[in-house]
Amino acid sequence: MPRLVHVIGAGLAGLAAAIRLQRRGVQVALHEAASQAGGRCRSYYDRTLAATLDSGNHLVLAGHEETLDYVRTIGAADELAGPAEPAFAFMDLAARSRWTVRFSRSRVPFWIGDANARVPGTKVSDYLALLPLLFAKPGRTMAQTMRCDGLLWERLLRPLFLAALNVEPREASAELAATLLRDVLSAGGEAFRPLVARNGLSSAFVDPALRMLQHGGAAIRLDSRLNEIAYDDAAGRAVALDFESGRVALGADEAVVLAVPAAAAAGLVPALQTPQRHTAVVTVHFAVAPPPGLATPMALVSGTADWLFAGAGRISATIHDAAAAHKHDGFDALDALDALGSEALARRVWADVAGAASLPLEPLPAWQIARDACATFAAVPQEELRRPAARTRWTNLTLAGDWTATGLPATIEGAIRSGHKAADLL
Ligand SMILES: Cc1cc2nc3c(=O)[nH]c(=O)nc-3n(C[C@H](O)[C@H](O)[C@H](O)COP(=O)(O)OP(=O)(O)OC[C@H]3O[C@@H](n4cnc5c(N)ncnc54)[C@H](O)[C@@H]3O)c2cc1C
Repeated sequence: MPRLVHVIGAGLAGLAAAIRLQRRGVQVALHEAASQAGGRCRSYYDRTLAATLDSGNHLVLAGHEETLDYVRTIGAADELAGPAEPAFAFMDLAARSRWTVRFSRSRVPFWIGDANARVPGTKVSDYLALLPLLFAKPGRTMAQTMRCDGLLWERLLRPLFLAALNVEPREASAELAATLLRDVLSAGGEAFRPLVARNGLSSAFVDPALRMLQHGGAAIRLDSRLNEIAYDDAAGRAVALDFESGRVALGADEAVVLAVPAAAAAGLVPALQTPQRHTAVVTVHFAVAPPPGLATPMALVSGTADWLFAGAGRISATIHDAAAAHKHDGFDALDALDALGSEALARRVWADVAGAASLPLEPLPAWQIARDACATFAAVPQEELRRPAARTRWTNLTLAGDWTATGLPATIEGAIRSGHKAADLL
């Protein structure tokens, strides 16, 4: 086991690696290019709304074992909250109909047999459409593997897979979708209970981890970008790290976990194959008190926004795969931001939110838009095949990040799993 590990990148992958290493008695130095930790999963103060916002609406599931293990370890398990039941609320904005799908807690999916728990208008036999997914082959899309149409698809499967994969599900990797399905089947419906960070992402995932690392004596260096790694190919080791602030030579008992995004890793590790295509997420926050009883999170069908999240004094909406114009009758949210301007997008999304929350269309509440053009790697078969393993040909360098070969889509669970694995390998 190394004496000192340099963890590069303080997103959730890097934080999870750092915490695990420290608990095993390894000295940790955490280096982060930005002036705050958390990467794509953090909170920040927004002047327009005079409020602390999250970098995006993040949903995790009660069955995400490594995520729950991580928040328990950093003492933040209470920060994740959700409904008592494994249930999801839906609304079709065009048809103005609402329904709730209530998964049964057990492994046997009794809910499919219960007309009040399954998707209204579907029959038990419709759910057999999912079976081919269990035998999904690598390199295949969902559309090449199972039926992707009909009520069950539009009113349950597409919204859930879109949230998990952040790409139009028909084009998504069937293998990744199958992993999600298998997880639910093996752990039971309870694993599908939605959880959100009740006081914001940083309170649940970032700040407690930084405090724990600091208490344990870790060196935390923000504004510390790694520019280059020097290698000794003959020895099969990384030998130095070049930061903007200077060079750090790696001793024989020192190692590195590289937990930066795919594009940054490709510039630091020779001949590294990484996913190239990414998909966007646009989040629109509205400063408005959610009406009492508003179901959250809520999947929105046939609107511009795909999901609605409500919290104290705020309702936020998420547009997944937001640069895909084919999704919403030719409407591309990123293009709209550029061409129509932000207010037109905010008004369009507010129409969805107001419809779902039964609020008046006018006046438009104060709003803020957060766009992330590279929110996740595109969970399509070609990109899935480009994900590298955590182990590299240098014995003291491992890779972490939601884009490495975790078997999961780019999610919090995938990022944390990758951090744990990179630490375990060292
Ligand atoms: C808007 C949005 C919504 C999302 N919704 C969900 C959701 O509902 N559920 C879910 O599970 N997941 C969701 N995700 C995905 C989730 O946020 C990510 O999978 C996860 O945060 C990735 O963590 P990471 O550590 O792999 O990468 P990152 O968070 O990208 O961390 C990498 C870190 O490395 C740093 N870095 C980069 N280059 C260098 C360098 N050269 N030197 C030092 N540091 C460097 C970066 O600044 C960053 O802090 C969402 C993502 C977005 C953007």
